[in-house]
Amino acid sequence: MSSPPVIFSGIQPTGRKHLGNYIGAIRQYVEGQDRGEPAIFCIVDLHAISVAYDPAELRERFYDTTAILLAAGLDPERCILFRQSDVREHTELTWLLSAVTAHGDLNRMTQFKDKSARQRELVSAALFLYPVLQAADVLAYRATEVPVGEDQRQHIELMREIARRFNERFGETLVEPEHLIPELGARIMDLQEPERKMSTTAGGEAGTVYVLDEPDAIRKKLGSAVTDSGREVRRGEDKAGITNLIDIMAVASGSDPATVEGDFSDAGYGDFKKAVAEATVEFLAPVRERYADLRPDERALEAALAEGAEKARAIAAPILAEVRDRMGIGPQR
Ligand code: ATP
Ligand code: MG
Repeated sequence: MSSPPVIFSGIQPTGRKHLGNYIGAIRQYVEGQDRGEPAIFCIVDLHAISVAYDPAELRERFYDTTAILLAAGLDPERCILFRQSDVREHTELTWLLSAVTAHGDLNRMTQFKDKSARQRELVSAALFLYPVLQAADVLAYRATEVPVGEDQRQHIELMREIARRFNERFGETLVEPEHLIPELGARIMDLQEPERKMSTTAGGEAGTVYVLDEPDAIRKKLGSAVTDSGREVRRGEDKAGITNLIDIMAVASGSDPATVEGDFSDAGYGDFKKAVAEATVEFLAPVRERYADLRPDERALEAALAEGAEKARAIAAPILAEVRDRMGIGPQR
């Protein structure tokens, strides 16, 4: 039998996590915590400062995100949940890995191109180095499996390349991780612009369903989702809006897209949207309700995070020591 995976994934503390994050990433984290040995989940505040932000708001949104993850079912007893900046090994490894990262590779990253085009005041060097920090996050734990949405494919490829280059240059030290992209729902699209992924920073309010949205807000957003001029509930290249709604329905109702198409073969778009809305309301309600209980107790959230950071450090510190040693940094061990 092969050994159990070391699972690692990071999520930004934007607070307002959306249905795409929930379906593409958070759902996989919850599933992974009993498979991973360990399963490590990191709330990446250092990634969040790569674009314009407000310091006080970052702290608030950080707690929002922590409470959402716990409400979704992450259990600090069964996984390692921590704040990225609490474990300094991430930033140190970022610099060390930047020495084996090709500038040209970073320049090709589509996320950098998209996000830098949206910055009004400053395109920070942090935004450019974002994938190196992300590589450090994962490689610091010798993770073997990284559950993410489809949009992170390119970044995972790059971190594999960085690990390969490090190992070639300094000897076998780091592990090339595999990405784990869900079969269904890896790319939930914006409801108003179904050609674009649902996003925290790029999307508008009407096109984005938030995990914490009230039922009526969810009904309204799904009710006004952009579709097409046809009338058939089926997937198709020219039917981005309906295809997206079919995927959402399949995940929210625990079914699959073909069954959804069959179930709604006689339905009009209006009725179909109503059904997707009700399924989504039911799908998200337990998370919203548990969130309301968990969010107010910031001390309890900090306590859970502190425990997670300690466990994370215990794994990352010896790996960092090995990396430094291989690179000739510091006195010989
Ligand atoms: P931003 O747009 O600012 O990058 P985001 O919405 O992508 O924010 P992140 O915290 O960067 O949020 O992503 C967390 C996880 O959610 C990642 O694994 C990412 O791949 C996944 N994800 C993001 N958007 C979607 C989506 N529309 N569908 C499925 N998964 C998604
Ligand atoms: Mg993202």
